[in-house]
Amino acid sequence: MGWKMTDESWGRVCNELQKAVGENNYATWIAPLRLIDLADGIVQLEAPTKFMRDWVSRNFGEPILRELRRSGHIVERIEFRVPELRATPAAKIAKPAAKPVPKARRVADDTELPGAPLDARFTFDRFVVGKPNELAHAAARRVAEGGPVTFNPLFLYGGVGLGKTHLMHAIAHELSTRRPELRVLYLSAEQFMYRFVQALRERQIMDFKEMFRSVDVLMVDDVQFIAGKDSTQEEFFHTFNALVDQGKQIVISADRAPGEIKDLEERIKSRLQCGLIVDLHPTDYELRLGILQTKAEAYRAQYPGLVIANGVLEFLAHRITTNVRVLEGALTRLFAFASLVGRDITLDLAQECLADILLNSDRKVTIEEIQRKVAEHFNVRLSDMIGPKRARPIARPRQVAMYLAKHLTTRSLPEIGRRFGGRDHTTIMHGIRKIEELKGSDHQLAEDIALLRRLLES
Ligand code: ADP
Ligand code: MG
Repeated sequence: MGWKMTDESWGRVCNELQKAVGENNYATWIAPLRLIDLADGIVQLEAPTKFMRDWVSRNFGEPILRELRRSGHIVERIEFRVPELRATPAAKIAKPAAKPVPKARRVADDTELPGAPLDARFTFDRFVVGKPNELAHAAARRVAEGGPVTFNPLFLYGGVGLGKTHLMHAIAHELSTRRPELRVLYLSAEQFMYRFVQALRERQIMDFKEMFRSVDVLMVDDVQFIAGKDSTQEEFFHTFNALVDQGKQIVISADRAPGEIKDLEERIKSRLQCGLIVDLHPTDYELRLGILQTKAEAYRAQYPGLVIANGVLEFLAHRITTNVRVLEGALTRLFAFASLVGRDITLDLAQECLADILLNSDRKVTIEEIQRKVAEHFNVRLSDMIGPKRARPIARPRQVAMYLAKHLTTRSLPEIGRRFGGRDHTTIMHGIRKIEELKGSDHQLAEDIALLRRLLES
């Protein structure tokens, strides 16, 4: 059953964390944390103040979880608490000061669904819709109506921080008001595995099966996690089929399209492909600005009196292009910092307080990186990228790399030519044109390029 963690092993986790988050962050935010307990997959950490608790939970919850797991601890989630609150329920990760949401509804036979807690802020109201996510949003809305199942599963995929989890939680929130009688279960694929392993260990596999087969809507987040985990995949496949056969709605998310998840069984891939597959595209400037404006509005209520100078949000939307989570983190820090030091939020303040994030966003993709990723993706040798071979299975990936080099870097055609084994700039131009032309008609190629772009830009 539950197992304990010693101060010594927490110390080792801390050492790793120090490397992962940097000396400064570590000293300011992580070192003051106190390990209280690890039992039954829940780690309890105590932060000295509420502010620190919220900050750490938002900004370092994930790295801490990751390091704990990497060091071999079975951790389902972290609970952050503060000393005064010790007697009351601790704040859940990613759920600071939010209105509590029922974790799972009770079933007729009074067993509770083992779902993950929902973030009260992840509602449709707070989801900003733009071109890159409008399809995913519309599909999620449709599922949230709770009407007859029209596509099954709904498969949402896209890079990290683009709103997959937000949409899934929003579906759960919406269903709980529209169709309170439905049994809705949301959990991550990792938690699915954790539950499964636990059920095996405690010889309660029948209960496990029964429970999962009794829900009306099943949502599994980050399904790529179970790739390569054979018995979990097997169980997932059976659960999935049983629910689909009963006409129950399933919603799945992953960081890439079903066909692109390595080590996922073929039969699962093909099952996943039977439904509606929707891609959340990387954000564009308008969407980022929209999100920043919405969040800033919410912060204004929280920090009355704080002034944001004109142009700051535009500057951030322009400069931070990685993902929405980073964008949000930047804004959180900006507000916290400005209120701590009692200054208005100006461009100068933003540049000072967000220097590390802005620097990171400056990161340029190199042609070498592009060549490496493309070679890997198409299974050709890196040396063939610059070599003379003209056979199509090699020439095509090479052209893809040329195309990406043109679009993701600021290099000129002659410069690109030099890095592709001294090719002439007209050859590069020809390669780029060829890909542009093919992309329109070759769906697979377009997908390959979109995936590579995401990988390279993330
Ligand atoms: P994913 O699951 O795709 O990695 P999340 O759903 O966790 O991403 O989103 C990361 C953060 O960005 C969350 O805090 C979420 O609320 C926010 N976010 C993402 N997309 C949007 C959006 N379109 N509007 C508002 N907030 C968003
Ligand atoms: Mg997610």
